[in-house]
Formats: sequence, C-alpha cells, structure tokens
Amino acid sequence: MKKPKEVKVSDLGEFGFIAWFSPAFLRKLPRGVVGIGDDCAVIPWRGRKKLVVTTDMLVEGVHFLKEKISAEDLGYKSLAVNLSDIAAMGAQPLYSFLSVAIPPETEISWLDKFFRGWRKLSRDTRVLLLGGDTTGSREKIVISVAVLGMADEKNIRYRSAARPGDIIAVTGTLGDSEGGLRLILSAETSAELSKSEKFLLRRHCRPRPHLEEGQFLATRPEVRAMMDVSDGIDSDLRRIMERSGCGAEVYLEKLPVSPALKNCAQKYRWPLEEIAAAGGEDYCLLVTVDPKKFIQLAANFRGRFGRELAAIGRITPEKGRLTYLKEGKPYALRKSGFDHFKK
Ligand code: ADP
Ligand code: MG
Repeated sequence: MKKPKEVKVSDLGEFGFIAWFSPAFLRKLPRGVVGIGDDCAVIPWRGRKKLVVTTDMLVEGVHFLKEKISAEDLGYKSLAVNLSDIAAMGAQPLYSFLSVAIPPETEISWLDKFFRGWRKLSRDTRVLLLGGDTTGSREKIVISVAVLGMADEKNIRYRSAARPGDIIAVTGTLGDSEGGLRLILSAETSAELSKSEKFLLRRHCRPRPHLEEGQFLATRPEVRAMMDVSDGIDSDLRRIMERSGCGAEVYLEKLPVSPALKNCAQKYRWPLEEIAAAGGEDYCLLVTVDPKKFIQLAANFRGRFGRELAAIGRITPEKGRLTYLKEGKPYALRKSGFDHFKK
C-alpha cells in the first residue's frame, strides 16, 4: 500500500505554519499579556507601562551572503530589523540580547567589524546589550536577536485595530531594499556604481528603524493599526487584514518610490510598481488612520520629519480581499510578498 504523502511545512507556508501551531499557545494567557500574532509580545510591567518583546533571526545564505554584505552593515542590520518591530508597536527600545552560531574559521577581524556596526546603532538608539549566547556552527553564521522595549499602554498600536474606511499610509519609500538586493544578486551590475545604485545598496544593508516615527504616530489616537514593512506591503497588509477582519485596496500609482529606484528600474527594466508593492525589508511603518483626521496628521508628520506620510490605499469591509488598482482599474500583481517556505 502506498504511504500517504507527508505534509511539509512548505505546504503550509510561513504564515500557515504560525497559524497552525499558535492557537494552543494563545489560550489562557495571563491578564494583560498579548502573545503570538503582532510585531511584539506585550507584557504588563509597572502601572500603565508595558514591556514589549521581539526576536528576529538572520541566517547566512537565507538573509545574507557573507561575501556580499560587510560585517559592519550586518551588525547594524541585525539590531535594526529587531528595533523596527519595537517601532511598529510605538515603543521605545531599551535592552537587547544577541545569540550567534559561528563557524570556527570566522575571522576575529570580521567579528570586530560586526560589533562595530552593532554598537553604532545601539549607541544612536541607547539600546544596551545585556546578554545572549555563543555557539559553534559547522558552516553557516546564524544571528538571533531579542529586544525589549517599553511603552505606555494607551500608545501601543496593534495590527488588529484597522477599520473599514481607514486610510492606509506608509512612513517611507517602498522597494528600495529589494532594488538593493537585485543589485547584489545580479551579475550585470557595473563595477563603477552610480549614486542611485549606492543608495539602494545602502537601504538594503543598513535599514533605518522608524523609531521616532512610530513613537510620534502612537501618540495620535487617529492612528489605528500599525506594523513594520518587513516582507513587503503585499504580505504585511494581509497580516493587518487577517488580524482586523477586513480587506484593503491599494492604489499602485500612489506607492512612494525613491528617485534612485526609478532610475535603476529604468536602467535594468525592473517592474517598478511590483517591486514597490511586493519587495521586502524596507522597514518603514505601515499604518491605518481615521480618514477624517488624515490630512491634519500628514501635515503634522511633514512638519516634524520633513517627509511625507504617504497615503497608498483604504481599508475595506471585504474580509481577506486585497485589491490593487491602477488608474482606477483592478490590477493583478505577478509577485506576492516574501514567505520563507514558498518558492
Ligand atoms: P515579524 O515579521 O513582525 O517579526 P512574523 O511575521 O515573523 O512577525 O511573526 C508573526 C508572529 O508570529 C509574531 O508575533 C511572532 O512572534 C510569532 N512567531 C513567529 N515564529 C514563531 C515561533 N517559532 N514561535 C513562536 N512564535 C512565533
Ligand atoms: Mg514586524
């Protein structure tokens, strides 16, 4: 008799996998504790203060290629991607833990540069390193980071708070990091890099966590749902839709793109709008906002940061339905956001 085919994690996908195992761990949580499902877990702390906690991992060959990213950038990025999840809750980061698995041949000079990059960002953000773990690895470097932060209960923003009619907005340009990744992976990139190419590479290798933007937005009651853009808005918006029980429409021509990405898209014939919608690792913030208060909020945001809070779409009542519109007409994206188990 033929053996029944084993279900693989790739059949579930990254998010199907999390949805499959997490319900058992969400039952009977103590009062005030928020578990799996948002950018950070939330734990009651002192009075109205809450502790927020996140952890993220970077694996050689999956998240980075050792020959293609400098050790300094990698140290910076390992902390940055975790701080981005703290920013997504509207919280202030405080403490970090760093665990590394490293092959014995790893050069101390490489590790020295790694810590130089880490320290640069930890100094800028006043995040202290309090511990971690070190182990050997056969071949690949694995970096696992945890960060703890603090926020006022009333300022914490969740993925689950979006409502139909809300305006969807982002705090930065989209697709730059994917552009940088394409340059890293492409053989045709010229030896002499243009200004635009350097910009995209830097955006990929040294993402800036939007901590101040997150804390600013979190003080405004009209900001409802918030998360960071790690897998691309096509994937990340679906997380907000799932948690909030709603749908969304996105206007492709409104996706904010940098002049550098436009230049390179033209030069290399990249699909600009697809990259903006589905490219990952931009680490800006994605928010939904009460439509009556959006214009004022965007004006205040511009005044404070000198950049746009770019409106890119609307939350709709149709559960689970994400529609893209290009000049008012429905448009099917070819590529969707990043999933670790999907090819
Ligand atoms: P983010 O990109 O913001 O870090 P993810 O999409 O990676 O969030 O994860 C979604 C949620 O699932 C988060 O709350 C995360 O903590 C949780 N999660 C992911 N993997 C695991 C795991 N192996 N065990 C427990 N929780 C997990
Ligand atoms: Mg996140």
